[in-house]
Amino acid sequence: MPQYIEKAEKMTLPLITLRDTVAFPGALLNFELTDESDIRAAKAASATSGLVFLVTEKPRQLAEQLVDLIFSDEELGDDLLDSPIPKLFPVGTVVRIKQMVQTPDKQFRVIFEGCTRASLLTADFGGDFATAEVMSKTIMLGDVNDLHARAYLHTLMESLHGLSKYLPSGSEEMLHAAAEIRDPGQLADFIAANVLIKTEDKQETLECYEPFKRVDLVLSLIETEGELLECASDIQRKVHARMARNQKEFYLREQIRVIQDELGDGANAETERYERRIRALHLPEEAEQKLLKENDRLAKTPFGSSEAGVITTYLDTVLELPWNKKTKDRIDVTAAKKILDEDHDGLDKVKDRILEYLAVKQMHPELKNQVLCLVGAPGVGKTSVAASIARAMKRKYVRVSLGGIRDEADIRGHRKTYLGSMPGRIMAALAQSGSSNPLILLDEIDKMTQSAQGDPASALLEVLDSEQNKTFRDHYIELPYDLSDCLFIATANTLDTVPRPLIDRMEIIEMQSYTKREKINIAKNHLIPKQLKRHGLMRAKFRLSDEAIVELIDYYTHEAGVRNLERTIASLIRKAVRKMLDEGKKSIRIDAHHVKDYLGCRKLLPEKIDEIDEIGTVNGLAYTELGGDMLKVEVAALEGTGKLELTGSLGDVMQESAKAALSYTRSIASQYGIPTDFYQKKDIHIHVPEGAVPKDGPSAGVTMLTALVSALTGRPVRHDVAMTGEITLRGRVLPIGGLREKTMAAYSAGVKTVLIPADNERDLENIDPLARENLTFIPCRVADDVLKNALL
Ligand code: ADP
Repeated sequence: MPQYIEKAEKMTLPLITLRDTVAFPGALLNFELTDESDIRAAKAASATSGLVFLVTEKPRQLAEQLVDLIFSDEELGDDLLDSPIPKLFPVGTVVRIKQMVQTPDKQFRVIFEGCTRASLLTADFGGDFATAEVMSKTIMLGDVNDLHARAYLHTLMESLHGLSKYLPSGSEEMLHAAAEIRDPGQLADFIAANVLIKTEDKQETLECYEPFKRVDLVLSLIETEGELLECASDIQRKVHARMARNQKEFYLREQIRVIQDELGDGANAETERYERRIRALHLPEEAEQKLLKENDRLAKTPFGSSEAGVITTYLDTVLELPWNKKTKDRIDVTAAKKILDEDHDGLDKVKDRILEYLAVKQMHPELKNQVLCLVGAPGVGKTSVAASIARAMKRKYVRVSLGGIRDEADIRGHRKTYLGSMPGRIMAALAQSGSSNPLILLDEIDKMTQSAQGDPASALLEVLDSEQNKTFRDHYIELPYDLSDCLFIATANTLDTVPRPLIDRMEIIEMQSYTKREKINIAKNHLIPKQLKRHGLMRAKFRLSDEAIVELIDYYTHEAGVRNLERTIASLIRKAVRKMLDEGKKSIRIDAHHVKDYLGCRKLLPEKIDEIDEIGTVNGLAYTELGGDMLKVEVAALEGTGKLELTGSLGDVMQESAKAALSYTRSIASQYGIPTDFYQKKDIHIHVPEGAVPKDGPSAGVTMLTALVSALTGRPVRHDVAMTGEITLRGRVLPIGGLREKTMAAYSAGVKTVLIPADNERDLENIDPLARENLTFIPCRVADDVLKNALL
């Protein structure tokens, strides 16, 4: 154990109290005395031994500080302020006055040098100045070179160096001074005086008389201080880095601004340009003011910021709209007829309706634009007719595809506040067309759906309503726009899914599916020339015989329109071009029997009628998007308990119609010699083949009835008869749709006689002449008419 030398002495000395600082033995302390009694104490000391006892006041409690805050000095009064005797720490330092000078403002600057630690015994604040009775005590190491002491000294220096990187610059001198100290106890004092931050930590060190304990204490204090400083410097570094980045960005933006100003192309130039563009449009007052305001906002936002980006996109979008720009209509019915005829074969009724519409417009140009809606199967030419109307009227043409739209915002736009917001499709279409009176094709209006984001159909209503569309407001544009000069044409495959109010606002024009003859003509006059041109082939080099076209229609496509036919022709032309290149031919001629060399074997085998008359099997006729189809209905009546089984993917309406047919069969059982209790003793199974294809609709009613009666009576059904018609519980035959397509399918399948509802007789004039000439039609009013003609 190291040797200690201990010296102790009792003294009475003038007392000066310190706040927030601690005096240490061996350290110099330099401060100004302001308090009169402190000055008297210092003077008294210099006049005698020059020694003073410096001790630190305990920090005041929060409650005491609050008293100060609440009562001002005047309220407390002088005596109150002076009287409290400060609470002092129990240990202070005996110091020697090294220098004392009076400053020009009559104050005293004193330099003290710490001598020894001393414990405060009593303090007397009663006299001219305060005095204290103290016990000074020094514990010194006997030998500072002993191993123990050197190890302590070393460790202290190590941790001091460890801390040095966090110390303020200029601390090197302090480190040099520390390195000079040989006594670990003194070094601990030195470090406490110069490095420790908190007064409590310093005081704790001062109160530690024993050198090694003091070193231990200081080491642990430095360690926590180190962690604190490290954390603090980390924070500082981050703050600094962030500030540096912000400053850099700011600096760069300013540079851009300056450069662009120099080039006459800066933010100012930009807003001026916008202002000129806004004024040049001669917009209505409200719109102009609103845009100018946006432009002002742009001037105030930092150049190049994302906010500025949003505003410029908005201004650009609005300014690109065709405000006040219109094309001049050609309303000349004869010219229009020529163009419509040029573009489309057949379609006489549709063309007539359109020409009537134009004629009215020619007579009364001021009349509001009507909204047309073309309804028909895919590929019947709805889109191309609309484009052709635009051409006839010399209007710009834009197509807005509505298929799959489920959001009101698609029609009407998103508010500017949304990230990445855009105008709706109507406004986008206008901008695209570049005129305020284009023909806007609203394609596939029946394929819109609703969602939680609002109903697009109701937004569309507003677009189409001539009362409201004069001031149509897109959410993004936020300005009223006059849509009343636009000509809207909608298309739909079916009206079933179009909301009623929309249908009411439109003039419906039905487009029927094409007959084989029409398809052949369209192919020859339009599709083939169009595709040849598209593939860069001269007409003379490619010939497709009529038989080949029929082959394509019958065995390679199955559709109401001509879209697949066009596609098939295109593929035929491509293969022909390749063949010409491969075989070095100058031209190609394709006949019916060549087709399979190009397109592979036949893709479709149309339904044909049976060879013989069968029991329980009847030829029905169906109408689908693809056109007409022959659909066989089969019924089996088996021993059982009266169950009804329906198979073949039948929709609800078709199932109900099967049940109605069964009930009607029960009501006529005795008339046809069917046991009246068959519905209890037989299981009935109704099946429609091609089970994977969904089927629906009421028009198979008579077919199912005939099959039922045939199965129950055992009477065969004529194999060359086909039929269609809805049946009621009373046995009335109700009219159906799609007669044109159905009769065509019957003709193709080889049917001879077709039973149709009597009310459909008048539709016969619209059917394909080929079917009309080759089929016998029997109009039926009641079920009996059907059964009489179908059953043998
Ligand atoms: P939809 O809009 O009814 O689905 P499209 O207008 O897209 O049908 O027609 C498909 C293709 O068939 C187009 O190339 C179109 O020009 C052509 N087409 C349809 N009907 C006729 C017709 N009557 N005369 C000439 N070409 C037609």
